[in-house]
Amino acid sequence: MNADIADWANLYDVLMDAYGPQKWWPGRENPFAVVVGAILTQRTTWTNAAMAVDALHQADAMTPEAICRLEKMDLEQLIRPAGFYRAKAATLKVFCERAGKAGGVSQLFAMPKKALRSELLSMRGIGDETADAILVYAAAKASFVVDAYTRRVLERLGWIEGRETYAMIQALFEASLPKNVTVYGEFHALIVHHGKVHCRARPACDSCPLLTRCPFANSQEELS
Ligand code: SF4
Repeated sequence: MNADIADWANLYDVLMDAYGPQKWWPGRENPFAVVVGAILTQRTTWTNAAMAVDALHQADAMTPEAICRLEKMDLEQLIRPAGFYRAKAATLKVFCERAGKAGGVSQLFAMPKKALRSELLSMRGIGDETADAILVYAAAKASFVVDAYTRRVLERLGWIEGRETYAMIQALFEASLPKNVTVYGEFHALIVHHGKVHCRARPACDSCPLLTRCPFANSQEELS
């Protein structure tokens, strides 16, 4: 790892100055809707996931109880715009059943972070990234989300080599930041935004706020 704690804080500050607060999931007052969004947005765009979310709202099915009551085929049809709809319907069903057993989403989310993360990971269709997105954006627990944008940005900055596991990269963030849900949520959202606006597969380095500290950009310049 090629960055110290000050670098991580500085990265957050630079991205926040450049892009401002992202305020993801403004519907956080409805944690269940955030869970549904986190599952539906797997392997698709938010635009497609949002169409499926709208369909659930229109069918009055945006509660765990309503999703438990729906026939699986009916649920699949409602969320079809999000793609992988059979697998996602199964995951939604499992989550809603577990929430029901716990006495509701709030009771499920009252579990300690580590136990809740294990519980989420035991549900088919929920991996590290979705579990951490649910933890930070729905359950308000400080668990850093690592995704492909995070890997790409950190690798280009020279802070990771690229072979690190999810857990290793998450540990780097969590060892370097205050355990603050808002900071974790904003930092991940800022990295995603940065990965879409500047640090794309073909990066737009010229106007990037990280240009002066980016070895990747400098190496590309030397090659040109
Ligand atoms: S300078 Fe280029 S490669 Fe480096 S972080 Fe910015 S966009 Fe990515």
